[in-house]
Amino acid sequence: MNLARFPRIRLAHLPTPIEPLPRLSEALGGPEIWIKRDDCTGLSTGGNKTRKLEFLMAEAVAAGADIVLTQGATQSNHARQTAAAAAKLGLDCHLLLEDRTGFNHENYRRNGNVLLDHLHGATWEHRGPGLDMNAELATVAERMAAEGRKPYAIPGGGSNATGALGYVNCALETVAQLTDMGLAIDTLVHATGSAGTQAGLVTGLTAMNAQLPVLGIGVRAPKPKQEANVHALCVATAEKLGVPAPPPEAVVANTDYVGEGYGLPAPSTIEAIGMFARLEGILLDPVYSAKGAAGLIDLCRKGHFKAGERILFLHTGGAIGLTGYLHSFDVPA
Ligand SMILES: *Cc1c(COP(=O)(O)O)cnc(C)c1O
Repeated sequence: MNLARFPRIRLAHLPTPIEPLPRLSEALGGPEIWIKRDDCTGLSTGGNKTRKLEFLMAEAVAAGADIVLTQGATQSNHARQTAAAAAKLGLDCHLLLEDRTGFNHENYRRNGNVLLDHLHGATWEHRGPGLDMNAELATVAERMAAEGRKPYAIPGGGSNATGALGYVNCALETVAQLTDMGLAIDTLVHATGSAGTQAGLVTGLTAMNAQLPVLGIGVRAPKPKQEANVHALCVATAEKLGVPAPPPEAVVANTDYVGEGYGLPAPSTIEAIGMFARLEGILLDPVYSAKGAAGLIDLCRKGHFKAGERILFLHTGGAIGLTGYLHSFDVPA
């Protein structure tokens, strides 16, 4: 495995720290819980998309693009990190924002990630729910090319084989850190959505024979679909890297913590945000990382993760989205 063969532009503050969570571990009374802080990747309040964008933006620049296009939900962390990366590289950025939740609150539509998209100089257009958003993106890219622009379209979540290289890199980084720290981890847990994070991790860890199982906690799709999406992207990423593809059983997702749907916080989501905030001073986001954390918390309570084990929770970022979800919290005046 040789990642240095692929074009890359440094955007992230790496390596991200690995830290213990003693008060959360004590409150749950089960395994020792550690956290890897990919919420601290640095670019425009950080998050997991920045690692993917290191490889995606390098491709955009190599292709001579003058405008980067991508798509996501209104409060997309990926759209915000793409807007910031484009600003840093002097490229224009245009977003397609899908109204996936039906929320009409002023904060949801204009605060949080949307405010940051605006500050980074991105433009956007809205789409109703349920469309094939990557197909919409292709249509907009054609329109722009016909107008004489040089667009580079990044799929939702930056999740293709190029973007997943960012999480192959995270697999290498994490194994090196754990080796240095002498820290034996039993399971790595994180929120999984558009699949690039889990696919990159599983492909990289399998190629290294790291023997570190990954559990993705789903935020949208049912389990069979989520696992199939992740595995398909593992196969594409392994082919790009020239390493053996991970077997299907290396891809495990638990989708019991989605609640009523994507971007709709469940009571367990809100509880996880409160526990991390009050026990560890760490902010989770209501769409992804808190659903991942809700899974982690419940699996500890149920004894699936037990005393004597060590769990590493990958914090994928997104806390700026909290300000788009003011309506989900009981804030005294
Ligand atoms: C996008 C995102 C995820 C999910 O990562 P995928 O690569 O899309 O599966 C998790 N957490 C946060 C905060 C995200 O923005």
